[in-house]
Amino acid sequence: MRLFKGKGEFKRSVSLTKDARDGILTFCKMNHPNEGILVLRGKSRKGNIRIDGLVVPPFSETGPAFAGFPHSFLPLDMSYVGVVHSHPGNSARPSLADLQNFFGLISLIVKYPYEDDDIFAWDSGGREVEISVI
Ligand SMILES: [Zn+2]
Repeated sequence: MRLFKGKGEFKRSVSLTKDARDGILTFCKMNHPNEGILVLRGKSRKGNIRIDGLVVPPFSETGPAFAGFPHSFLPLDMSYVGVVHSHPGNSARPSLADLQNFFGLISLIVKYPYEDDDIFAWDSGGREVEISVI
């Protein structure tokens, strides 16, 4: 689904560096069968969100159906563009809780088995955003 391209609006897209993608997939595999969660670092420019770094959030809690952390413990850092978490099942769609706990500009979800094509990006409205690996 595409966002409406109105005056002054840009189509959203996500660019993920190859290193960031590989780091995410490795982290998800390590945490399986639990969910894993990482904070995404990068830059947003004209609707394109470039992700080039990963941060393990403090005090994160994970379980088979829950991955979260208290957002208030994160230092205010403008380079945090969102979070990525894994879904040990086979759906990469954001759950209601995922949307309610939306952090930053973008939410990445990786579904099992965490291969290159298993990463999906969503905006705060639950709309899919195109990802490219750079
Ligand atoms: Zn989720």
